Amino acid sequence: MPELSVIVPCFNEEAALPLFIDEVEKVNLQMDVDIVYYFVNDGSTDQTLEVLKQLSKENSRVCYLSFSRNFGKEAALLAGLEATKGEFVTVMDADLQDPPELLPKMLNLLREENYDVIGMKRASRNGEPVIRSYFSRLFYRIINSVSDTKMIDGVRDFRLMTRQVVDAILELKEVNRFSKGLFSWVGFRTTYLSYENRERIAGETSWNFWTLLKYSMEGIVNFSEAPLTMAAFVGILSCFLSFAMMLYYFFRDLIWNNPVPGWVSTTCIILFIGGMQLLCLGIIGKYIGRIFLETKKRPIYLIKEKNFD
Ligand code: UDP
Ligand code: MG
Repeated sequence: MPELSVIVPCFNEEAALPLFIDEVEKVNLQMDVDIVYYFVNDGSTDQTLEVLKQLSKENSRVCYLSFSRNFGKEAALLAGLEATKGEFVTVMDADLQDPPELLPKMLNLLREENYDVIGMKRASRNGEPVIRSYFSRLFYRIINSVSDTKMIDGVRDFRLMTRQVVDAILELKEVNRFSKGLFSWVGFRTTYLSYENRERIAGETSWNFWTLLKYSMEGIVNFSEAPLTMAAFVGILSCFLSFAMMLYYFFRDLIWNNPVPGWVSTTCIILFIGGMQLLCLGIIGKYIGRIFLETKKRPIYLIKEKNFD
């Protein structure tokens, strides 16, 4: 039977893992594939690794690898993708927010309609704080207007892919990984299924407003050069404005001889231009920071131990 590799990034998921495996095993009985799990322990501080070891003793299809510290979900995803060997690959959260019972439907659709990717999308943002929903929507509006890579609102990392797509994603060697963008960038024949949002089964989410905001900035800087263009544009505009003002004052004083000293306006202009320069420097700095990180070519994660080759 073909293998379906299930990648599960885990950060402090000791409570959710046994429940997760039970659910997926039930679903596997309805499918004509062999599910092999690739749990990536992303530097959990609870008993996640011990739970994984126990689970791998009970079930020979449980593979796990454990990082030397917390490297973040993006790194865990990459480690998972690199470890898998299956003909089909899926990415799932450990907290059962990605319903395993949808897997058979996804697999059928992928095979019958010849898709390369079945992406999963949340039907609504019910149960999410209003402010967060607002900013999420705003993020998607911005990123889609400034980036050539289209990202659809509500798309999760939960997706089913063929081997070919996984290999394509692994071709992208960048260190600053924004998976939502990478998944979309590689293309292939993709369709999206919607499902209702679910509560976490156990444990706590590792995201808050600020980490999400930082994450969205990553997305924009990694997938768009628009802020750089904007900075240049602002510079040109202010040059034109100041030139026009220079002409205006020159002729005004020449004709009406009106040398009224105006230190307030001068100070305002200096502050305004200075502020804009700092803003643009900041934007450029963000990109240079990226280049700095990319050129160091540090490994994206370090594995401390694993139970497979
Ligand atoms: N996760 C991870 N490393 C991290 C943070 C999260 O591997 O640094 C995992 C986490 O264990 C879960 C998945 O990524 O399986 C999604 O995280 P979470 O449920 O906290 O995010 P949400 O579903 O709220 O977006
Ligand atoms: Mg979750």
